[in-house]
Amino acid sequence: MICEKKSCTGCKLCFSICPKKCISFKEDTLGAIYPVIDKEKCVNCGLCKKVCPSLNKNIGRESFAAYAAYSNDLIVRNKGASGGIARELYYYALKLKYSTYGVVFDCNKGAIYKKITNISELDCVQNSKYVYSDLGCCLDDIKNDILNNKHVLFIGLPCQVSAVKMLFKRYKKEKNLISVDIVCHGVIPKTYLAQHIMFLERKYKKQVKKISFRNPDSKYYFCLYDENDNCFYKKKPNESDLYYRGFMNNLILRENCYNCYYANKKRISDITIGDYDTKNELPMSLEEKKQISLVLVNTEIGENIINYLMEKERITIVKQMVDDAIRFNKAFHKPANKHSNRLNFENYYKETSDFEFSVKKCLVREMLIYKIMFVPNCLKIIFLKLFTKNFKNSVKKIIRNLRC
Ligand SMILES: Cc1cc2nc3c(=O)[nH]c(=O)nc-3n(C[C@H](O)[C@H](O)[C@H](O)COP(=O)(O)OP(=O)(O)OC[C@H]3O[C@@H](n4cnc5c(N)ncnc54)[C@H](O)[C@@H]3O)c2cc1C
Ligand code: SF4
Ligand code: SF4
Ligand code: SF4
Repeated sequence: MICEKKSCTGCKLCFSICPKKCISFKEDTLGAIYPVIDKEKCVNCGLCKKVCPSLNKNIGRESFAAYAAYSNDLIVRNKGASGGIARELYYYALKLKYSTYGVVFDCNKGAIYKKITNISELDCVQNSKYVYSDLGCCLDDIKNDILNNKHVLFIGLPCQVSAVKMLFKRYKKEKNLISVDIVCHGVIPKTYLAQHIMFLERKYKKQVKKISFRNPDSKYYFCLYDENDNCFYKKKPNESDLYYRGFMNNLILRENCYNCYYANKKRISDITIGDYDTKNELPMSLEEKKQISLVLVNTEIGENIINYLMEKERITIVKQMVDDAIRFNKAFHKPANKHSNRLNFENYYKETSDFEFSVKKCLVREMLIYKIMFVPNCLKIIFLKLFTKNFKNSVKKIIRNLRC
């Protein structure tokens, strides 16, 4: 191992930097990928350890401003996971001819980073893909940008921002990087998503051509589309989709996410974006409160960008106290808590390599609660009445028997 398994984020910086190209990535028994060194080819130069962001931590700083924010372009706002702020940041970068990168979802390759060169490509990077994303395929492009003295705007999960910062540091070009980290409570190995999709394809006898993890047009969070762009499977976050349930209940995250170094107030980027918790008071109507991003400003560069977007009337921002804005967002306070059945999940999965089976076994309680919640109220009343009547009768019977 280059770093301990419990802290390896799978950022692939070691793979990209290795002069002998002797690092590859292999799945472990839980389906997550980790670096493996070909000892025959390795010359022990130590570069991989020197750059690994999990061994050489970037130190963050506390944010000095917080905003509830959204894009003034209603279409952009409605397509984002929250207020569409990420897209406005891409707009800023493209306007200044900076290189910029985002995550797209490909049904064969999964979530992968892509260099964005045109505004027309922004539709694909918008919205969250709740799965491990592969940064490895873009690290060479970023290296070229650095060598060509280009400015780069990088938006990614905090552990990925950390890897990209390490790369800029190595070439002493930190000033050319503008970084934006996305508030994050964890990612899921891509094998689980692939297995889940295969299961649903078999069940519905359809082929998945497109996925949406947080459908901007509705309240649905997990939607699958066929070749005619028809949505044949859609689930809300609190419904019965096992993948989503496993994600939200912290059962199926990548191991390092349970020890995340970045789950605190100290941010390593210029700007942090996430979901704004509308439990906080805002001077807006309920209707306007939908689709709002949390924006934290961590550096002067970050402040200038937010001011620029404000001046150009691209975004609306409402200032908040930093502590108030992050109070209810768990990802600022500690890493995700392991679900109480995590160990059982690991054992089932190691034994069977069957995602559906393993999650189903471990989320029995959650699924039961879901089923009870969705039983119509009239049925619940009848059931309760019957139950209480029978229950009373049985207790009476037991007491009578005891007396005899
Ligand atoms: C795995 C994951 C977990 C998250 N957990 C939380 C959380 O616990 N609390 C919270 O407040 N917010 C969380 N978010 C952030 C939230 O979902 C929104 O992305 C955020 O509010 C920004 O929304 P937006 O409308 O401004 O931009 P959007 O248009 O929704 O954001 C798009 C940006 O996210 C990037 N992106 C999408 N998927 C990935 C991925 N898998 N890996 C890296 N980058 C990706 C895109 O490249 C693009 O830059 C999470 C996001 C992800 C991807
Ligand atoms: S550089 Fe990234 S992928 Fe490589 S060992 Fe370190 S954390 Fe893991
Ligand atoms: S020590 Fe050097 S050659 Fe060996 S894997 Fe690491 S970077 Fe590659
Ligand atoms: S929880 Fe932390 S380690 Fe896991 S993906 Fe998010 S930032 Fe990276």
